[in-house]
Amino acid sequence: MTLLDRTVATLGDLISFPTVSKDTNLDVIGYLARRMEEMGARIEVVHDDSGTKANLVATFGPEGDGGLMLCGHTDVVPVADQPWTQDPFEMWEADGLLYGRGTCDMKGFIACCVEAAPMLAEQVTDRPLHFVFTHDEETGCLGAQALVELLKKRKLRPALAIIGEPTEMRVIEGHKGCYEYHTEFTGLEGHGSAPDRGVNAVEYASRYVGRLLNVADRLKARTPEGSRFDPPWTTINVGVLSGGHAHNVIPARAEVAWEMRPVVLEDADFVKADMDAYVNEVLLPAMKAVSPDAGITTRTIAEVPGLEPMETNAARDLCCTLTGANGTHIVPFGTEAGLFQSLGIDAVVCGPGSIQQAHMADEFISRDQLGQCLDMLTRLGSRL
Ligand SMILES: [Zn+2]
Repeated sequence: MTLLDRTVATLGDLISFPTVSKDTNLDVIGYLARRMEEMGARIEVVHDDSGTKANLVATFGPEGDGGLMLCGHTDVVPVADQPWTQDPFEMWEADGLLYGRGTCDMKGFIACCVEAAPMLAEQVTDRPLHFVFTHDEETGCLGAQALVELLKKRKLRPALAIIGEPTEMRVIEGHKGCYEYHTEFTGLEGHGSAPDRGVNAVEYASRYVGRLLNVADRLKARTPEGSRFDPPWTTINVGVLSGGHAHNVIPARAEVAWEMRPVVLEDADFVKADMDAYVNEVLLPAMKAVSPDAGITTRTIAEVPGLEPMETNAARDLCCTLTGANGTHIVPFGTEAGLFQSLGIDAVVCGPGSIQQAHMADEFISRDQLGQCLDMLTRLGSRL
């Protein structure tokens, strides 16, 4: 059996675990832990608070700082309401394409890692090589966030990280962050004929949205020089604005769901500071003057930092050498890479399969893409 055939077989195993983000990933983590342990890796399974999810860290070589991390997420997006032609959790092949939920995003990369591990392990010398398989990437990179906290606590910092999200093996050195919030407004109900006696939650939500749009305008002026993003500045989107029941009732509740996509970390702080000041100095005093119980609360759904293109990035340079790429790219989708970069790790995104197939019905990856990824990992071995 060739390396590629073994990889396809392992991918079939991985696809058979229905690791939709809302469900447990413990079975697939158990499978991967067993496979990596058989090859001589040191295994650490780190559970989340619920005990139903876990990250796996499998390490070859010495303990300690430095070295390389190969990272992939084990969760997949749901299949419900999608027109799949066959069972999404039983991989099938047609014309060199392997179909199933997660083939491309991103169990294909994980299968390549597992099959390349014995060869890589043999070449590891004085620095650690970590394989990191995470939970809950699709729902806000929760697994990677927990992993970053763990690394911080242990004062450990790998030097390089390759995140194998589907890029068709192109080298990606930048993407925007994704920060999502849910803001709720609690007012005081009353009759529409006496607006001054109530606190109109919808009106305050509208003023909040107005301020968000104002901040969005000011963000354009903060566009970093030479930004390669499209659009090149940090954007804000208001996705939900709801509240109220009838035209003659002062509404007591309203909500706004919004997101920003920062091109630099400072923009996220800028937006949060501006909105906090507006809430605390303008909106809340006016609301509480009428009803002390009125309030505004903002819940963070996710704060996934972007991957900022850097002048020096050893992971990017390594991937360019390994793949022979003569250029790098910026992508519009988020990954775990920014979280690792925030820890001071040089991070790059490069993996098999196309983002076009990710999250779709009849998701697939080609044998050819898996082969290219195995080539990259084989060349990596000789550079460890
Ligand atoms: Zn993914």
